[in-house]
Amino acid sequence: MFENFRIIDFQLCKSDYNGFFIKELAILNYSKSDGMNVSVYLIEPPEDMILTRKDQYHNNYLERNIHGLNVYSGTVLYNNLSDLLKPNDGVYLTIVKGKEKRNFLKNHYKAGIILNWDDENSQPLNEDRDRMNVHCTYHDGKKNFSCAFKHCFIILNSMIAAKEELENSIKRETSM
Ligand SMILES: [Zn+2]
Repeated sequence: MFENFRIIDFQLCKSDYNGFFIKELAILNYSKSDGMNVSVYLIEPPEDMILTRKDQYHNNYLERNIHGLNVYSGTVLYNNLSDLLKPNDGVYLTIVKGKEKRNFLKNHYKAGIILNWDDENSQPLNEDRDRMNVHCTYHDGKKNFSCAFKHCFIILNSMIAAKEELENSIKRETSM
């Protein structure tokens, strides 16, 4: 059951395209044979993005109060997102925290089987944020902001702490 899985978390920016787009994407891959690796990407906005004043206001709010990331920042082209989110060979299951995140992936990308690891463990991610002393290069010096990279580790910790519950929810999810 636990041989191959990945944990995905992301931070969004507001745009005219799809309403929101992924700004920071973190993927924690785990396989029994290769162990764990975590990648984090900062995604450029869609090339044809046009922001209204209201969108810009929304993004300023997100940058200042939620994730600390500028809407125009990025190192990876927006068009590469679908490839990044496609499950690798042998990845059995994608785990996210939150119904909204799960729906976002399901609606916009082919991300395989997605489990929302939230029903059994409803503690919000930011409550654990201060205790977890990791952050990505994009959040260097921005420790009080939401970091997708850090969230992956928080989710992994809660999975380990509740292994049995998790196995049960995976069974439910994959037998449907
Ligand atoms: Zn980060």
